Amino acid sequence: MQYSLITIIKHLLWPAIFLFGVTTYWIGTQNGHPVVAYNIAYFGIAVILFFLERWLPYEQKWQKSDGQLFNDIGHTVLTKGFSQLLATSAALLGLSEFGPESASGFWPTEWPLFFQVVLALIIGELGLYWAHRTAHEWWPAWCWHAVHHSVTKLWFVNTGRFHVLDSLWKSIFALTLATLAGAPKEIIMWVLVITPFIGFLTHCNVDMRCGWLSWVFNTPQLHRWHHSQVVEEGNSNYGENLIIWDTIFGTRYLPADRRPPVDIGCPDPVPTSFLGQIAFPVTAWLKAKA
Ligand SMILES: [Zn+2]
Repeated sequence: MQYSLITIIKHLLWPAIFLFGVTTYWIGTQNGHPVVAYNIAYFGIAVILFFLERWLPYEQKWQKSDGQLFNDIGHTVLTKGFSQLLATSAALLGLSEFGPESASGFWPTEWPLFFQVVLALIIGELGLYWAHRTAHEWWPAWCWHAVHHSVTKLWFVNTGRFHVLDSLWKSIFALTLATLAGAPKEIIMWVLVITPFIGFLTHCNVDMRCGWLSWVFNTPQLHRWHHSQVVEEGNSNYGENLIIWDTIFGTRYLPADRRPPVDIGCPDPVPTSFLGQIAFPVTAWLKAKA
């Protein structure tokens, strides 16, 4: 196979952007400014992907507006704000913000930071996997997850387009497991920081080549199949950050002989208005009861 410069760049994009985010946050933790560093990394990745989606798009068709820009941002801000509210309420109630300040139980605090973060990612991912899988296979939960799947194109902006109940559902699964495992707050923060970085990469409309990374992480190449309207294709690749639980439970899906569908979406009548989307789970439940 002939490797042109552009092909090499396509192979390097995913690890380069991921490492940019992680390294920036790590420098912040070393200098006592983790929040500033996180924001630089978060918005830095957004800017990088904004330009890459124009230079190296995966689907030309997805470059056109779907009229959902403000709704996508609205859901992102609302779910992030909601998570913050949950954290603040927990702090006011005397609970720790995100799990215990120090490790408890069998958590291996003596391990190097890197391996502790890997362990927390794997454990948290088991919760995220089942939260996502139940949202596809259990109809009442699908009603809020359908808001995410109602998009007709993938790009970095709809990474955070999740109904508030969807985010709550995922948080319950993941944080319960993390707390049970006794992971300290510092490690849980790492998982919470890495998740949106990988999310941006997963949804971006950039022609990245992920190769063996698609056996470890949830990559755009895997996630495009997850947005297929064909149920057998869409009910796959449930991992949020990692793909290992999909491999273990047999839901990893990545055909090598064809491209994922361009016309993505879901058959559910998710409204185009923001308030309609917020109300959608309730309206869908009521309609089903009537
Ligand atoms: Zn899904």
